[in-house]
Amino acid sequence: MPEKTLSGDTEQKTMRLLIIEDEADLLSSLAKALREEGYAIDTATDGEDGLFMAMNAEYDAIILDVMLPLLDGWEILKKIRKKKKTPVMMLTARDALQERVRGLDLGADDYLVKPFDLDEIFARVRALIRRSAGIASNVIQIGQVRINVPARQVSLGGKPVSLTPREYGLLEFLAMHRGQVVTRTNLYEHLFDENDITLSNLLDVHISNLRGKLGSEFIVTRRGHGYCIE
Ligand code: CA
Repeated sequence: MPEKTLSGDTEQKTMRLLIIEDEADLLSSLAKALREEGYAIDTATDGEDGLFMAMNAEYDAIILDVMLPLLDGWEILKKIRKKKKTPVMMLTARDALQERVRGLDLGADDYLVKPFDLDEIFARVRALIRRSAGIASNVIQIGQVRINVPARQVSLGGKPVSLTPREYGLLEFLAMHRGQVVTRTNLYEHLFDENDITLSNLLDVHISNLRGKLGSEFIVTRRGHGYCIE
């Protein structure tokens, strides 16, 4: 079983995908493009190999063609679903509504209609993995500031910004309550556990550091009330 946790200090872990597809050109272009996106890719070109790999290794997602030699996508999906919850995206023929319905009925998580463009498959694969990990919202974008929540990475105008874990926690909490004034008490409760000695100026220091890194106007002080990202 691959490690599922994401650490704040390291890059997002490599996701491992299995592609089961018998069209050689499509398989190689898909595998190449997804590898360039940073995924580890295993491939199978017939249904029996594909099923064997799906059952005997742990994948973050499986991309599964319907029409395959030896064993079709439906049979593979049925057998996978008896044992595993690995997210599966079916590749179906154009206008084959019945194929899509059948796939979803059998427990496919998504489908993509051929031909598709690569940007679409990237977006769908990310969404598939995110949904299966139970993460509802991946990225918060506020002006120039972008917060990648699962990776705990922040960038400003496309450039990575290095934050301490406390600064990150503070930023994420304010960003998730965007437009609302968050009281100092709320921030203390969220950021510090009961054993911390919560010196009043500690919060001011973190806020000041965040402003230094993300812009002085990014976090607004509402005197007597708290802080706000607008
Ligand atoms: Ca095929």
